Amino acid sequence: MIPYGRQWIDDDDIKAVVDVLRSNFITQGPKIDEFERVLAESCGAKYAVAVNSGTSALHIACLAAGTGKGDDVITSPITFIASANCAAYCGSRPVFADINTRTYNISVSKIEKKITDRTKIIIPVDFAGQSADMEPVYILAKEKGKEFNKKIFVIEDSSQAQGSYYKGKAVGSCAFSDMTVMSFHPVKHITTGEGGAVLTNDEELYWKLRKFRNHGITNIPGDFVNREEAFQHVEGELSEALNPWYYEQIDLGYNYRITDIQCALGISQMKKLNRFIKRRREIVSMYNEFFGRIENIQTPYESPDCDSNFHLYILLVEWARFGTTRAKFMAGLKKKGVHTQVHYIPVHTQPFYRKNFGTGWGDCPNAEEYYRKCLSIPIYPAMTDDDIKNVAEAIRGTLNAG
Ligand SMILES: *Cc1c(COP(=O)(O)O)cnc(C)c1O
Repeated sequence: MIPYGRQWIDDDDIKAVVDVLRSNFITQGPKIDEFERVLAESCGAKYAVAVNSGTSALHIACLAAGTGKGDDVITSPITFIASANCAAYCGSRPVFADINTRTYNISVSKIEKKITDRTKIIIPVDFAGQSADMEPVYILAKEKGKEFNKKIFVIEDSSQAQGSYYKGKAVGSCAFSDMTVMSFHPVKHITTGEGGAVLTNDEELYWKLRKFRNHGITNIPGDFVNREEAFQHVEGELSEALNPWYYEQIDLGYNYRITDIQCALGISQMKKLNRFIKRRREIVSMYNEFFGRIENIQTPYESPDCDSNFHLYILLVEWARFGTTRAKFMAGLKKKGVHTQVHYIPVHTQPFYRKNFGTGWGDCPNAEEYYRKCLSIPIYPAMTDDDIKNVAEAIRGTLNAG
């Protein structure tokens, strides 16, 4: 059986986790800081805040940006639903800007058409591992922010793009975003079981992210509101000495904390990230060679600005030209032990969005056409050359393509 993706766990990972289990701290210990340092360094960002999922990371990033009722959040329709749900969690309206037909990433000119004075955040998604065209998005957000006399935040959803590059910079550097979000779910590039993180270069956002991760609690003395309660009275005078038990909840946050157990796994996995990506790119070369020669199949396009980690390998197939349907094809292939997936059903067509935000079929024609044709075929670092050949042959056989 060949799945479309899977994690790679080795003895070093297992040892790292067991070491934490035998230590004094299994949550809220030193591994969280260490993982955050490794993450931030790996992409050249100043700060990282690790949380219990990529979805939580998106949520606290939206909270830190301060979006709420009456605000719009623009994102791509071709993404995992979490990229849009995070706006809805905050009471904001998700707005979908159609995709570019070559990269399948959000189109900058389509964003331009959707920006209004209600826009609070733009969330470009680095789909399939290839960075969105971040520089023009960031410039547009700054320009429109000036025009509307407000700050428009850019949150890059890089859940699929850890280890990728854009214009020579590591994804996560936040060179063209206010915050960048990653996910460590097992199908992503490194895993912590469940897990995620927000990267930023902005110190104020960093402290907000930490606060929203932990119930809205602060223990920074400068933030305290009830100063009479916070500080000790010495000879009747309020001193600068803090009461040792003291903390304050100054906002409504969540328990989105990650554990030391998970972070130990994450640190160990980070050592293998480059190797994982190298193997993925080898698989891509073999697939491109094979599928590039079949008519009515489109292989992935990699923009010259990008160095993709190839989270997904997606084929666009003219199913009717092969006298089949995608459903029939997927079932036939599964009988040969090869599992495939569809990424994604356009978010704006989901019943929840149609019902609550009035979106629907026809809103994003490029995304909808893409969706009819797309198929994600297996790609993961543990694939052997034989696996790759077997997948390619099984697909060709099932399609009856020469
Ligand atoms: C995986 C993913 C998420 C959510 O991450 P979880 O860790 O599963 O919560 C969000 N956005 C995109 C684009 C993803 O691929």
